[in-house]
This record gives sequence, structure tokens and C-alpha cells, in this order.
Amino acid sequence: MTMSGVPADRREARELIVLFCRRMLAERLVSYTSGNISTRIASEPDLVAVTPTSTAYDTLRTDDIVIVRLDGSVVDGSLRPTAELPLHTLAYRDRPDVAGIVHTHGPAAMAVAALGMDLPPILHGLIAACGGGIVTAPYARGATEEMATLTAEPLRHRSACLLRNHGVLAIGPNVEHAYNAASVVEGVADAYLRALPFGPVPEIPADDVRRIRDTQWAPAWAGGEAAPTHGG
Ligand SMILES: [Zn+2]
Repeated sequence: MTMSGVPADRREARELIVLFCRRMLAERLVSYTSGNISTRIASEPDLVAVTPTSTAYDTLRTDDIVIVRLDGSVVDGSLRPTAELPLHTLAYRDRPDVAGIVHTHGPAAMAVAALGMDLPPILHGLIAACGGGIVTAPYARGATEEMATLTAEPLRHRSACLLRNHGVLAIGPNVEHAYNAASVVEGVADAYLRALPFGPVPEIPADDVRRIRDTQWAPAWAGGEAAPTHGG
């Protein structure tokens, strides 16, 4: 593993993805075969390791992880990559600072995404993990380039966004950061849905949102080639 948490080679990349798939299933951020994870490979910058399509996570093996080029073509692996591959390849093509992507279908986040609501900065953890409140990207059909394109703006200054009527897309300078963002989004979505029936949920003051973003979120991206700017 490199200093930035990006796997050095294909073997490390495959092991890392299997580990986080197990965590994703144990944490109920996905069920059965839904969701997907990918990572860049430090020694092969034009390749990405990604989960296969329609493969159960509890029996997933390192050999099942597919190595693809950024145009989506398979370089190494016997299974087909996830049908939602455009969500991953588009972000890697556009963002040299992104090296890990996690897409989840947690129940609370799916409820917020189905309602088309945003998640405001109501809890400290959301700002530290994602850079602030997050928004729901406009609706698009699943597994399309259009769905991927519509996430570019919501992710410009954040580590996660919601996909309308679908789930969560989280990015990071490595898989661990993206995974943490997806996990925190599920927790905050759950808390938000519990709090909403009691009236408007107060937000953290804007000055504190900025302070938490600059001191706790931004440093995680600082090692990247092009750390995101902190506006918005
Ligand atoms: Zn999905």
C-alpha cells in the first residue's frame, strides 16, 4: 500500500476491495449483490480494479475482482465488471484526485434519495467525512453515462452525493475515505429521518461547518494531485 492509501499493485487492489466489500455487507450498506467498489492501482495509473456484476459479497474472492481500463474494457479477470461501471470510470477520468469509489444502497440513504431530499449539515460527522451537507443528484436511469455525468457537480466539493431514487455515491483519495463517507451518510440519513417528524432539524452554524471542513475533511484530500477547492 502506498502512503496515500492507494494499493501498489493488482493483488493489493483486489484484496482491498474484497475487504471493504465484506465490511459493506456487514454494515448493511448493501444487500446480496447490490452496490460496488473500485480503486486506482498506483503502479498502473491507467487501470482500475472494480467489483464484478451480480456476484454475492459473502463468497466474493480476490480473483473475482476485475481490472479494467478507464474506457471500461477488461484487462484482467474472468467476470464482467459491475453494470454501474460508468459511475466509476467517469469520475476517474475527470478527477485525478479521486483514487477510490464506493457505491452503496443503505436503507436510510435510499429513503432520502427516493424522496429527493438533500442531507443538510445537521451533524458534525457528516461535515468531517463529506465536507458539508450533501445533495441528491437529479434522476437518471441506472447504469447509464448520464447518471454518472449528473454526479460531477454534486461531488465537486464533497466526498459523497445521493443518487435520486437509487443510493449513495462516495469518492475519496483512497477507498477507505470513500467508504467512511458512504457509511457516515447512511448514519446521518437515518438520524435525519428520525429527527424530521419532530420539526425542522437545526443545522450546524456556517462558521463551524467551514472550520470542520477545513480542519478535518480537507486534509484527507491534501495529498492528491488536485485537492478540491473548499468553496460551496
Ligand atoms: Zn446502484
